[in-house]
Amino acid sequence: MFETLKPQPADKILMLMQMFRDDPRDNKVDLGVGVYKNAEGVTPVMRAIKAAEHKLWEEQTTKAYTGLAGDPAYADAMINLILGTSVERSKIAAVATPGGTGAVRQAFELIKLANPEARVFVSDPTWPNHISILKYVGIETVMYRYFDAETRAVNFDGMMEDLQQAKKGDVLLLHGCCHNPTGANLNLTEWQAVVELLNERGLIPMIDIAYQGFGDGLEEDAAGVRLVASSVPECLIAASCSKNFGIYRERTGLLMAISQDGGAQAQNQQSLAFLNRQNYSFPPDHGARLVTMILNDDALRADWMKELEDTRLGMLGLRQQLADELQRLTGSDRFGFIAQHRGMFSLLGTTPDLVEKMRLDHGIYMVGDSRLNIAGLNAQTVPILAKAIVEAGV
Ligand code: PLP
Repeated sequence: MFETLKPQPADKILMLMQMFRDDPRDNKVDLGVGVYKNAEGVTPVMRAIKAAEHKLWEEQTTKAYTGLAGDPAYADAMINLILGTSVERSKIAAVATPGGTGAVRQAFELIKLANPEARVFVSDPTWPNHISILKYVGIETVMYRYFDAETRAVNFDGMMEDLQQAKKGDVLLLHGCCHNPTGANLNLTEWQAVVELLNERGLIPMIDIAYQGFGDGLEEDAAGVRLVASSVPECLIAASCSKNFGIYRERTGLLMAISQDGGAQAQNQQSLAFLNRQNYSFPPDHGARLVTMILNDDALRADWMKELEDTRLGMLGLRQQLADELQRLTGSDRFGFIAQHRGMFSLLGTTPDLVEKMRLDHGIYMVGDSRLNIAGLNAQTVPILAKAIVEAGV
């Protein structure tokens, strides 16, 4: 049987990580993989996570199974974090998932179960995993214009024009904040126009929110999600705790299915639990439990928010430094967009050839589509990157 297996497409980011490891240069800079790193190049365990882990070790008396949906207290805490009071709890079905990727996968499975004809509209570009999982699950994908290669901002007119092709029952996949890979985001007026389009055309939004707190702040980053979730009949939300709690390997995510028709909640909940049962049965609990402890404890929550805010401000500072250095070197504002983008990533909007040139000549590692991980920089490497960008002729 196994002889029939064929090589699957290699993950470009993982390949890049290997090339970085193999590069002997001392001054190489890793801007590839999407993990946050502090000024020392470390992806730290957050203080509140350490404290919660300590407490959990002392207090936890069993590791027996939770429910198929995970611990309801985790769902409540996360719903509160993401949606605040914008949607009544009784309208929300929610399950814990293995990371945000698990939530995305289960959302696609739910779409397939509910409407096998539905197409999913994704931004061009989007997180490559969206496209590969959609393909694997067998859902037709349609791309809509999103990024303007000239201005490096959202091409909102192009996006709205392309979405005119969507038919009732199709799904519109949106990034809640900190768009990956571009860093270019919708403003609230644009979110409002999207809500109107969703309602006019009878589309179902699916919002992937993997970076809440990395952009403009915890509340600000959820504003678009809250607006959509409270203004459309049905909505899916896939959330990740990997980045904002720094618990990447704990695999902590949440999937919500929201129906304004309160009577639908029980069926939605049952369908989500069924899908968990088919795919992995009980979702991981450790990360979810830490998140619940932090969100429900005033002191832990305050400390987590402080560390998250410092992280966010650190990334904003690096953006500004890079934009300023490029301004100094080029004498133009061409790279001002780097300071306007939000989140961990910015798309430089250049060719794979120039990305390759920067790797060969300067040891700068970024993904071939020219996505750079801002958190991979520090005060010493900003000038190295700026010089590489200018010398490569980006
Ligand atoms: N969605 C987006 C847009 C992402 O960038 C990521 C992580 O890179 C995820 C979802 C899922 O992250 P994880 O599965 O690590 O929680």
